[in-house]
This record gives sequence, C-alpha cells and structure tokens, in this order.
Amino acid sequence: MRTILIKASESRQLQRQIAGRRMTRAIAMRFVAGDTLDEGIEVSHRLARTGKTVTLDYLGESVTHEAEARAAAKAYLEAVARLEEEQLSSGVSLKPSQMGMVFSPALCTELLGGIADTASGRCDHITLDMEGSDVTEATIALVEQMHGDGYTYVGCAVQSYLHRTESDVKRLSALGASVRLCKGAYAEPADIAYQARDEVDASYSRCAEYLLAHGPYPRFATHDHRLIHFVTRTAARMHRPADDFEFQMLYGIRTTLQDELVSRGYRVRVYVPYGDQWYPYFMRRLAERPANLMFFLRQLVSR
Ligand SMILES: Cc1cc2nc3c(=O)[nH]c(=O)nc-3n(C[C@H](O)[C@H](O)[C@H](O)COP(=O)(O)OP(=O)(O)OC[C@H]3O[C@@H](n4cnc5c(N)ncnc54)[C@H](O)[C@@H]3O)c2cc1C
Repeated sequence: MRTILIKASESRQLQRQIAGRRMTRAIAMRFVAGDTLDEGIEVSHRLARTGKTVTLDYLGESVTHEAEARAAAKAYLEAVARLEEEQLSSGVSLKPSQMGMVFSPALCTELLGGIADTASGRCDHITLDMEGSDVTEATIALVEQMHGDGYTYVGCAVQSYLHRTESDVKRLSALGASVRLCKGAYAEPADIAYQARDEVDASYSRCAEYLLAHGPYPRFATHDHRLIHFVTRTAARMHRPADDFEFQMLYGIRTTLQDELVSRGYRVRVYVPYGDQWYPYFMRRLAERPANLMFFLRQLVSR
C-alpha cells in the first residue's frame, strides 16, 4: 500500500483528479500551513509562541521547466526576506528538484546560490530535502559545492533506509555540514534500501550515534518516540549539550510530543510547508501512516 501511495504521489493525472476536491484539500490542510506565505508566517509565529523554531518549505518538486524553477526560487527569496522582517529565528528547506536539478544542474546551482546569498545572516540554515535515490549523490555533491563556495549554513537531509547513508553521514560531518537525519519517505528497492522497519530504525540509531559524537549541530527528524528516547539517552551519555542538536517534526504531527520535548529543555523545530502544490507532500503523509489513509477514505465514502 505504501509503495502504491508513493507512486500515486508522482502521478500528475491523479493529482488533477484528487487535489481538485475540496474535501481532499480540507484534510491536506492538517499537514500544510496554507496556500500562501502569509499563512506560513502566521503558523510560524504561533509555533514560536510555544517555544519552537521552524523551517519553512515552499511546496513544489520535480519541476520540468526553467520558469517554474525560477518562480520557486523567487518564492524562497520572498520567504527569507519575510522571516527577517518578522524577526523569526528560522530557516528554509527546499527540494533540489524544485530548483531544476533533474533537467539542469547548472540552473539548480545558480538558483540555490542566489537563495544562499540572500539568506546569509538572515536564516540560521538552509536544508536541502532528500528526494528519491536518483538524486541522492547529486544532492550531497551540491552541499559540497555550496560549502566550497563558502555557504557553510547549507546542509541536507539523509535517509536511514538507504544502505549508503552511514557513509554519507561521515562524509557530510567531515565537511562540517549540518545533517537532518530522517527515515526516508520514498519507495526504494531492496538492493539499495532496508525494507524492514527494525533495519531502518537500527540504521537510524547508528547514524544518530555517529552524528552525536562527530556531527556539527545534528537535526533529528522523527516522530518515533523510541528513537527520540535513544537520541536523548545517547546525548546525555556523551555529554552533548541539549542546545547543540535539535529534534524536527512535521507540522500537524505529534504536537503533544513536540510540546513535551520543549518542556524538557530540548530544541524542537517544526517543518512548515505552504503553497498550493501540496498533493505529493500530502500523499507521502498518507503513505506513512495507514490510519491517515483510512481517515481519508472514510471521508471520501461518507460524502
Ligand atoms: C522535519 C522532517 C523532515 C523530513 N524530511 C524528509 C526528507 O527530506 N526526505 C525524506 O525522504 N523524508 C523526510 N521526512 C519524512 C521521514 O523520512 C519519514 O517518512 C517520516 O518522518 C515518518 O517517519 P518517523 O521517523 O516519524 O517514524 P514512524 O515510525 O513512521 O512514525 C512514528 C510515529 O509518528 C507518527 N507519525 C509518523 N508519520 C505520521 C504521519 N504521516 N501522520 C500522522 N502521524 C505520523 C505516528 O504516531 C507513528 O507511530 C521528514 C520528516 C520530518 C519529521
């Protein structure tokens, strides 16, 4: 079912059929701040009042035309300026495929450089989301290129389901890049990715342990309370201060756990997506949790 939903997230035809329904949109908005930057900023202020920071994500991915990539980059420039104006201690997350990486790596580098220039001194980080395994190497190479050009606040996500990730974590840590560690939200084959949940979790723990020992400001992106417990215990054992790493969760997911971590003195950053291209993001959230899918289907049937 997970693989089917992830495949469905990539279908433009299904997007047209499903995303157009008002009810689908209403459910998707549980995970998305809204269509506009104003809504993203409003949610960010609300989260800041509860002791959390944010990373803003302008939704969009797998663009196929230069104009779309340039429009996305422009949206990020506006977001960076607004974050500064609103005095929100924050950063941005973006997808390399949204900047044209798949059809023009040169365009992607140019646009990311422009965003990094504007973000300098204004944002506390830029994180490249990690997408399918076809762009993993290119995404890490892009972070290396950015660091070479002096943009040391650019990092990326890595996915513990990939066999290669333990070595990527070492490579990025040696570079001095801040890494966001997640489990992985795409469908990858068994020759390159762990398929069993306990293997993905064991890989997450190994990567987390390495990052706590050697990584600059690790970002642990998970809602899994067992892994969160592993991170807090390991950090304590290593005497890694609680202000030298952070937990990250997605907007709308496990809010009580977010609050509990804040009350225990941990840093929590919420990933806040906004924009009207929410369909693939929403489908991945359905794929992650059968209960979400059941809720969605029940609402569809009851109409
Ligand atoms: C801040 C952040 C950034 C991310 N960036 C990326 C990225 O760049 N690339 C990438 O491939 N993936 C990314 N992900 C997604 C990630 O890879 C997982 O797919 C997702 O976080 C679910 O895994 P989990 O660690 O929360 O553990 P799970 O074992 O899947 O979930 C643990 C518990 O969390 C809750 N939960 C998890 N997901 C949901 C959901 N969708 N709806 C409701 N409850 C849920 C449930 O209670 C579940 O039992 C990101 C996740 C986060 C939190």
